Amino acid sequence: MANQEDLLKKIIAHAKEYGFVFQSSEVYDGLSAVYDYGQNGVELKRNIRDYWWKAMVQMHENIVGLDSAIFMHPLVWKASGHVDAFNDPMIDNKDSKKRYRADVLVEDHLAKLEAKINKEVEKAAKRFGDAFDEQQFRETNPRVLANIQKMEEIKGRLYPAMDRNDMEGIKQLIEDLEIVDPISGSRNWTDVRQFNLMFSTQMGSTAEGASNIYLRPETAQGIFVNYLNVQKTGRMKIPFGIAQTGKAFRNEIVARQFIFRMREFEQMEMQFFVRPGSEMEWFAYWKDARMKWHLNTGIPADKYRFHDHDKLAHYANAATDIEFDFPMGFKELEGIHSRTDFDLSAHEKLSGKKLRFFDSETNESYVPYVVETSIGLDRMFLAMLSNAYTEEKLEDGSERVVMKLPPFLAPTKIAVFPLTKKDGLPEKAREIMDGLKMDFMCFFEEKDTIGKRYRRHDAIGTPYCITIDHQTLEDNTVTLRERDTMQQERVPVSKIASIVSEKLKINW
Ligand code: ATP
Repeated sequence: MANQEDLLKKIIAHAKEYGFVFQSSEVYDGLSAVYDYGQNGVELKRNIRDYWWKAMVQMHENIVGLDSAIFMHPLVWKASGHVDAFNDPMIDNKDSKKRYRADVLVEDHLAKLEAKINKEVEKAAKRFGDAFDEQQFRETNPRVLANIQKMEEIKGRLYPAMDRNDMEGIKQLIEDLEIVDPISGSRNWTDVRQFNLMFSTQMGSTAEGASNIYLRPETAQGIFVNYLNVQKTGRMKIPFGIAQTGKAFRNEIVARQFIFRMREFEQMEMQFFVRPGSEMEWFAYWKDARMKWHLNTGIPADKYRFHDHDKLAHYANAATDIEFDFPMGFKELEGIHSRTDFDLSAHEKLSGKKLRFFDSETNESYVPYVVETSIGLDRMFLAMLSNAYTEEKLEDGSERVVMKLPPFLAPTKIAVFPLTKKDGLPEKAREIMDGLKMDFMCFFEEKDTIGKRYRRHDAIGTPYCITIDHQTLEDNTVTLRERDTMQQERVPVSKIASIVSEKLKINW
């Protein structure tokens, strides 16, 4: 565990040192859980967004894009349930003055019980060796059974209390479990209170008569309220999808873990409108398609897993998360939800406008069902950074940090190095770069030794470096060096583009 925490710290430090991510307003000591993307971060982020857009919009004839405003009519959030129910239960510890999500405190307690069970299983596996039957052990060992029962009892109290908004019940559970504050070790807790996660502000020039509006906590509602505009003007037929990327805002109670949980973040969401009754088929389709999108980056499959929800939100009839093995362990990266007609029906009811689709095949008019895929761009960014970060010991005893990013996501694709600053080498290098920069993000560097320049580009994940030397002037060849293998080969300038393009191909 310590190692994993170290890894996150190293990634945060590296992200800052190499211009990927900075703390927001750092000169004023930062703003909690808000971050800025630097010169390399902005490129990586854009490449991830483009990859998503291409997979969702360009590759699907029946999916189109949308860019709806962040501000929306306040009633949108009334209809969607966010005004009344987008709450987290919070609790403060009076000694440490720290604030926690009450349900997370209980879930952490559950995780400890689970860890105990796993420890028993591991111990037994060692003791019994090959003859060990894990399933049988889990079903019969009294200590394991007792802990499973404890976990079931806790879940049996936590989830119904959450559903009923029973804050006293959650407080009682924390007390009964004797949960202590991880910082102060004390059990001196305040009551549990509901906390709405939406940020609000005023619209209008004077406070009087101004109306309270919200910063959107998800991009999805912009899609719902526009679905008929898009359907009609785009002459879309069900099933069809609308995709959108953009900022979302949530006043998270506990915002730790770098860009994993931010107060301002970016979502990439797609709402797929289907005939009622066909939603399970489409849910299965999108589960599969989204997992493929992740695996097509070339990242090993064991870094991903599905986590199907047993406890469904009131609007959903199926839901799963794609979890990624972050430095903090497996956590949600993307959600796939079958949302039924909950949102559209709610908007129909509150707005009084018909939001029905006329299906010419069945001659019926209905409110479509929706299957959505929703991924946090910043979380995907963290997944890519943490998977790529590699410390390597080289044969000559030196060390390098190399970001093994999927090449098509790398901020810079080709770094261009004149060997020296004289003899016309920089001019030749610029001429070569001019021929490449329309198609590839290039970076020109003439300072320091070639070795140092290689290290800098390893650290930001540049897949190829090319060096222009005296021989280039004679025969128009350069040294092309590949990031991961560090292999160098002499290639004609005319071949650079095709070699790099091949490397950047996405395995669809
Ligand atoms: P969590 O349980 O982690 O709070 P959620 O279930 O509330 O997430 P959704 O409402 O399903 O998340 O949002 C869809 C996606 O948006 C998530 O899978 C995640 O990638 C991203 N996301 C949600 N909240 C944040 C946040 N505070 N910071 C960064 N990304 C976020």
